[in-house]
Parts: sequence; structure tokens; C-alpha cells
Amino acid sequence: MKAWENNIRQVVPYVPGEQPRRPVIKLNTNENPYPPAPGVQAAVREMDPDCLRLYPDPDCTGLCTEIAAVYGVEKENVFVGVGSDDVLATAFLTFFNSGKPVLFPDITYSFYRVWADVYRIPYETVPVDKDFRLHAEDYYKENGGVIFANPNAPTAICEPLSFVEDILEHNRDVIVIADEAYVDFGGESAVSLLDKYDNLLVVQTFSKSRSMAGSRIGYALGGQALIRSMENVKFSINSYTMNQYSLKTGVEAIRDRQYFEDTLAKIIRTRETSKKRLEEMGFFCTDSKTNFLFVSHKSRNAKEIFEALKERDIYVRYFNTPGIDNYLRITVGTDEEMDIFFRAVEEILK
Ligand code: PMP
Repeated sequence: MKAWENNIRQVVPYVPGEQPRRPVIKLNTNENPYPPAPGVQAAVREMDPDCLRLYPDPDCTGLCTEIAAVYGVEKENVFVGVGSDDVLATAFLTFFNSGKPVLFPDITYSFYRVWADVYRIPYETVPVDKDFRLHAEDYYKENGGVIFANPNAPTAICEPLSFVEDILEHNRDVIVIADEAYVDFGGESAVSLLDKYDNLLVVQTFSKSRSMAGSRIGYALGGQALIRSMENVKFSINSYTMNQYSLKTGVEAIRDRQYFEDTLAKIIRTRETSKKRLEEMGFFCTDSKTNFLFVSHKSRNAKEIFEALKERDIYVRYFNTPGIDNYLRITVGTDEEMDIFFRAVEEILK
């Protein structure tokens, strides 16, 4: 072994869902099955490639202003990044420096452990209950910060606002992060608590509800002191995180309220009909407030169903993780995609 090898940062990276390079029925990474708003499509068509010659606005003023308008806050209350992954990573680095363990559920977005590890942040996972529910009392103990996804992933379950407020009431001296990647699909957002709690950071994304996973746009909403601190960290690593195309298309995506609401309604409708069909086929489904379903069959093995679907070019997500290793996470596609999925499941269960 070479001496320098001792100095390499050892990390076990996050494993994203597969991105196959050929057409498949893709229900594995919670993308939106519908295209972005028409304004986004027009902005892409009209974009002058000459803008790529110049560095983008490091303050992302236009995009922050539009996001702020949607939530009735100031642009100084908004931080944008390259997907909410970038925003969350920046938040870990900015806020979790006490040396005390950060708390998050044991079943949740698996990237939290990875960021904690890569930034050498101690953490403690808090068990969810047998129904995958989170309990605020479990987060009363001393800690270096709290983060949870609400709705949670991959369980799809949303805890009520009273849960978030309970956590905030009992954690006044640390930063509490609510990761609301899926909140638009029926969850209760903690944005309404921002005025009351200056230690709350709410993180959301354009990837799911605004059909913009490929643009990589995420944002945090919080008090100006929190946002300034995140900006300071960002400007200490890379000032130009957002590219010209994302800054322009992001503005169009967030402006079109009607398209956003129509798309959400379609996905929620398909989610509910799909859930009913799955239940009729012997699956247990959690009460999803997201754009995916988290399901387990009463008699058939999840991994086998996952593999049989994959053989038929239908991709869903399977996690070989204790506690959820007999579950599948199925992104809600279009009605047509779901019909193909259901025909395959029927065949597999036969
Ligand atoms: N939080 C949760 C809970 C997620 O499931 C995801 C999607 N993988 C993200 C954050 C990050 O999404 P993005 O970086 O596309 O905004």
C-alpha cells in the first residue's frame, strides 16, 4: 500500500437509481412522467447559446426572486442549488458543526448518512415504528441538528405539521431541516412555520413536481441568517453553481402555477387508482403523499418481482436494506405506463 493512500478520504457513496440508456418503462427514480411547463420548452427553444460564453449570475437573483414570490418571502430567504442534493449537502456542511450527533430516521433518504460521513459529522439514526411512522418524542434528546424527509422516502408517508412543530419546540438550539422533496403531491409543508422558528430550514426541489430533474434545481427557504450562512459556504467552494439554462428554465417552471397544479392532479389521480389496483392484487401500500408507491406483496417476494419486472424492461426500485427488503418503490407514471406495469405484474403473480 502506498503511503499517500492513507490520506485519501474514504467514503461509501450514495447509489442513485439506474438510468438505463435505452427506452424502458422507468418507474425507478421518482421523475415526473409529464414534460416541464410549456414556458420551459419555449425558453429552451429560444435560448441564445451565446449566453454560455458568460458566467451565470452567482447570486441567481432572477430564480430566487421568482421562488420567493411563490412563497410570499424575500429573495434573501431563498438559497438555490444544483438539485436539492446540493442544497442539502451545503446545509449539512453549514449547520451541523457542533460535534454532537445529528438525528435522522433509520429509514429515510439514504444520502443523509453519506453526507454525514463525507463531512465527518457524527450522527444517530432514530428508529421509525413498525408502520414506518416518526415520533417527535424520539427527537427530544440532545443533538447537533435534526433532518427528516416529510413526506418520508422511500416510505411515502407524511407526518402532520404538528409533528414538525413539536420537533421545533423541543430543538430550539439546533437547525432543523425539513426535506420536502415530495411535499407538493399532498403533504403538509412546514413553510408556514418559517416566521415562527428561525432555526427551521425547508428544502424543496424542481425535480419531481415541476418535471425538471434534468435541470438540477433545488432550493432552501429559511430565515435570512441561515440563508446568508449557506451562501457563505457556497461562495467558499463554487460561486457559479447554477448554469445559464437552469436559471432561465427554472424561472419559467415556477411561474406556471396552472400547469403545475394540473400535472399534480393527474399524478395524484393515477397514484390513487394504482394504489387500489395494487391492493386488489394482494399488495400492502403505505398511505402515499408522494409521486411513488411503497408496496409489499402478502405472499410474493419483492426482489423476485423487481427482477421479473426488469426482465420485461420495467424498472422500479428495490432496496436491499433491513426493514424494507420486502418492499418495492414504484414511481407513479402516466396511466399508459401504469397499464403496462400492471399487465406485467399480473403475469408475474400468476
Ligand atoms: N430528498 C429526497 C427525500 C429525495 O428522494 C431526493 C431524490 N433523490 C432528493 C432529496 C434529491 O432530489 P434532487 O437533488 O433531484 O432535488
